[in-house]
Amino acid sequence: MQCPKCLSDMTVIDYQGIEIDRCSDCFGMFFDHLEKEDLKALEGADSIDIGDEFVGARFNEILDVPCPKCNVKMDHVLHKEPFEIKFESCPQCHGAYFDAGEFRDYMEEEIFDQFQDIVRHIE
Ligand SMILES: [Zn+2]
Ligand SMILES: [Zn+2]
Repeated sequence: MQCPKCLSDMTVIDYQGIEIDRCSDCFGMFFDHLEKEDLKALEGADSIDIGDEFVGARFNEILDVPCPKCNVKMDHVLHKEPFEIKFESCPQCHGAYFDAGEFRDYMEEEIFDQFQDIVRHIE
């Protein structure tokens, strides 16, 4: 699979049995459509987000990227309240792409439930 942002190869990593595609260059991450149970297992998975948040912030400016899986244009999700979340979501497979450092932020415990709600809402 090819990173939709920097076009480098993405490698599959495994976190508690959940496969996540992570870019070998910019360290953006692509999550397949996740079930609620899978999301729960991802709690504390911030260790998989090893990229540089400054690199991530740069790639976060790249909009209108194709889904690395189905090649359709992903929706840019911007959720502002009560905290800002920006990521790309595929309208077809419901996968989600996070730039490096973003996922780390989102997995902070106090916002985790909210994140689950947002993902459910998108589905
Ligand atoms: Zn990349
Ligand atoms: Zn897709």
